[in-house]
Amino acid sequence: MSEDTDALLDALERIAERFDEEQDYLTELDSRIGDADHGNNLARGMREVVEKRDEIADEPLDEAVKTVGMTIVSEVGGSAGPLYGGSLMTASQELEGGLDEASAVAFAEAYREKLTDRGGASPGDKTMVDAVKPAVDTFKRAVEEDDLPAVDALAKAVDAAERGVEYTVGLRAAKGRASYLGIRSVGHRDPGATSTYFALQELLATLEDRVGAADATDAYAADAAERGGE
Ligand code: ADP
Ligand code: MG
Repeated sequence: MSEDTDALLDALERIAERFDEEQDYLTELDSRIGDADHGNNLARGMREVVEKRDEIADEPLDEAVKTVGMTIVSEVGGSAGPLYGGSLMTASQELEGGLDEASAVAFAEAYREKLTDRGGASPGDKTMVDAVKPAVDTFKRAVEEDDLPAVDALAKAVDAAERGVEYTVGLRAAKGRASYLGIRSVGHRDPGATSTYFALQELLATLEDRVGAADATDAYAADAAERGGE
């Protein structure tokens, strides 16, 4: 298994666990401005993804992400399934040459583009776009302009997504089921923006664990070399 695919499997397991823990909360959010299925949909979809771990383990990263997207499209109903899954399927092509900072930025941008093409939502419409857009813009800027390593860029993106989620509270929904409520949608956090933020948090935690483990190995090796040299 490639190191990238191994990291992906870790991230998927964490996201599945998080969606399971937050299932009732996400469904509660969706019950206020939707039809109370967002948490159940995502938790079930991610359980199905994790069930495919053996298949995913044998694939290069781009194919593995595509399999995740296809599984989400077929298992998660509603708007969120095709939006999450379809965007992952399209964006997976950017990972064909493997994962580095440049391909991660290309992946993030392709994800946002597919999401907005498919759903037709603009920022401020009170959808998952309100978490995705600031996260992707921040990630890109942090990598390309501030030259930050991926883990630090992702940490900033997660903060941006969190602010995006809070911003949805005051918005009136203009897309999806919540838009039927009109002005009554104001005052509630958007479920899809919230689940996007949770998924990004788990992606960050996976990366932090891996960077932490690599740093510890490096420190151990340096320490051993020093002791060996005494
Ligand atoms: P459904 O609304 O079909 O029940 P879910 O409850 O699973 O689907 O997902 C609802 C979430 O989907 C919303 O909170 C919103 O973030 C997102 N969403 C709905 N429509 C759109 C759209 N056109 N573009 C982007 N996101 C959307
Ligand atoms: Mg719903």
